[in-house]
Amino acid sequence: MASGSSSVTSASGSDAVPRAIPARPKRADPMHRDARIDDLLAEGPTLSLEFFPPKTDRGVANLLETIDALEDLDPDFVSVTYGAGGSTRDRTRDLVVTANRDRNFPVMAHLTCVGHTRAELRELLEDYAASGVRNILALAGDPPADGSPAEGDFQYATELIELIREVGDFSVGVAAHPETHPRSPDRASDREHLAAKLEVADFAITQFFFSASDYFDMVDELDALGVSTPIVPGVIPVTNPASVARFADMANAARPAELWARYEAVAEDPEALMATAIEAAASLATELLEGGAPGVHLYALNRAEAPLGVGARLGWRVRQRLDVS
Ligand code: FAD
Repeated sequence: MASGSSSVTSASGSDAVPRAIPARPKRADPMHRDARIDDLLAEGPTLSLEFFPPKTDRGVANLLETIDALEDLDPDFVSVTYGAGGSTRDRTRDLVVTANRDRNFPVMAHLTCVGHTRAELRELLEDYAASGVRNILALAGDPPADGSPAEGDFQYATELIELIREVGDFSVGVAAHPETHPRSPDRASDREHLAAKLEVADFAITQFFFSASDYFDMVDELDALGVSTPIVPGVIPVTNPASVARFADMANAARPAELWARYEAVAEDPEALMATAIEAAASLATELLEGGAPGVHLYALNRAEAPLGVGARLGWRVRQRLDVS
């Protein structure tokens, strides 16, 4: 845990990247970990971070060090992904419960329902409720990659939300895809299903995207359908262009040619790439917050440097919400 100012130095030495994160006071509320994300969103823009559960004990130890480093950002909440079909069930559960217990911010558990029985999901949700976890991201998950039909009792995220509400008093988030979900046959049906899901959820977090207009268009389309549930944009610092490109293509996220040319130009220079990734993610996040987004969810990819750089660029906003002088 940092007790004073911590330096974030531009990898390239460029002035475009901020130099320092001022020390931030501890939250007044020592039980911040018990907060519901819908309540946090009602207070003002949030900054949140997403991690995935490492496969090894060494990986978990590294991630906990990363989370220590990221405490300088004083995130409003963090989240931990869940492997499709339950492949990371225990690792996600253990990380969520431990971090939620030991850190002064709420940890949200992602949970996918495809491939699970109702009883399996109920058991995990009861465990989360008993362990003090108050925030769940309700997801369908993907059907098996080999094209075989998904087994289990659930097909869509809305069915999981119903079960979550039965089990406990959770704040329930869902996924939103600004450029539409890859399995949606058309935009209209995508928006109708998303609107129906948002009606029974407390908030949403988006898939990453690279043009702010994709986010604002989605918000406008949902508004026209009478839905105003807060939707937090997900922003990814592109520190590994090849890997993000693969995910983007699978997730239906368009990659603007000009932006990708910038990444490709520095792909062989790690320091310049990090500086470019931070600058682009911070610019997008700034545009989103200035346009009224209720927060920013950073895909941290279990590393500290890029989120610290982006957070430093947004620091004045976060400090403003926390009333830090
Ligand atoms: P749904 O909202 O159920 O929608 C899936 C598709 O079905 C959409 O095309 C929708 O339009 C359609 N649909 C919905 N309801 C109906 C209906 N009643 N009739 C017909 N069609 C319908 N995956 C993981 O495995 N683990 C994770 O931790 C994880 N975290 C994620 C976090 C975020 C922020 C995001 C954006 C995605 C995440 N995913 C994760 C990926 C997600 O599981 C996949 O995108 C999955 O394919 C769909 O999940 P969903 O919850 O959006 O599904």
